[in-house]
Amino acid sequence: MDTKHVMIVGAGQMGSGIAQVMAQAGLTTYLYDIDKSAVNNGLTGIAKNLSRSVEKGRMSEGDMQAAISLLKGSSDLGEAADCDLVVEAIVENKTAKTKVFAELDGICPRHAILASNTSSVPITGIAAATKRPEKVIGMHFMNPVPVMKLVEIIRGIATDDATYMAVADLTLKLQKTPVEVRDVPGFVSNRVLQMLISEAISCLNEGVATAEGIDNVMKLGMNHTMGPLATADLIGLDTVLSIQQVMYEGYGDPKYAPNPLLRQYVQAGWLGKKTGRGFYTY
Ligand code: NAD
Repeated sequence: MDTKHVMIVGAGQMGSGIAQVMAQAGLTTYLYDIDKSAVNNGLTGIAKNLSRSVEKGRMSEGDMQAAISLLKGSSDLGEAADCDLVVEAIVENKTAKTKVFAELDGICPRHAILASNTSSVPITGIAAATKRPEKVIGMHFMNPVPVMKLVEIIRGIATDDATYMAVADLTLKLQKTPVEVRDVPGFVSNRVLQMLISEAISCLNEGVATAEGIDNVMKLGMNHTMGPLATADLIGLDTVLSIQQVMYEGYGDPKYAPNPLLRQYVQAGWLGKKTGRGFYTY
């Protein structure tokens, strides 16, 4: 399938990044959110990122203008009616996601692929909310999207080969590397990463070391670019908690239980970088 028109649903940090790379690859891209200010912030953030790339000589002025001209803010999900692909990047909540997929199924043309950027919610369950489960797939970008090269591609139980191939081809067009994974809670990325983050939070809660100390052990001792607590702050602690809950429920294994300190931070509204306070202050 030749993907030309796309809509990104959810204009937060991930949705905006996905919209940016789609427009840079020459696709007409709608950026939709239920919150109009999120759309405006998303478009402003993309424009800033692109002009920084021009200033640094990584992109020409003409390419920046071309990408910007392909981006359109939207407050009407109905505009997905002419899209070949929709990538959903709303809050990490299964009920909210299945509701959006059921709506999109009624709006989008029959050939359209519906993808989710979910970090952990099983694709098979999301697909069941539609009448086209063979065209539903996980397209899990990493944060920050314009920088990170990986896209985990998750096939639900009913996803067909044509859908997988179309999404894997598009990922290459975005100059990223697709990795196919099975549909299990947390997939590969979060199944591994969240164990690290969770253990780091336990160390912090037990007073084993400070947040800086824990992150320094992993950066200086294990050559990680970022420590696990700074990574959690970047992801957003609300999203981290949702992912861990999905894995805890999905596997029924206590090793995935979120640490009480994480719950407390989320209750306090300390969600990490996006709210200015998490394990660090920003
Ligand atoms: P975010 O909080 O920055 O943005 C979420 C956006 O979704 C908000 O702008 C909100 O207004 C919007 N929204 C909520 N409900 C909506 C609805 N029904 N319709 C349209 N818009 C709606 O979150 P984020 O960090 O961008 O995460 C989005 C998704 O990407 C989640 O599924 C998350 O698990 C996944 N993800 C996040 C990361 C990360 O590092 N943050 C990495 C990979 C994947």
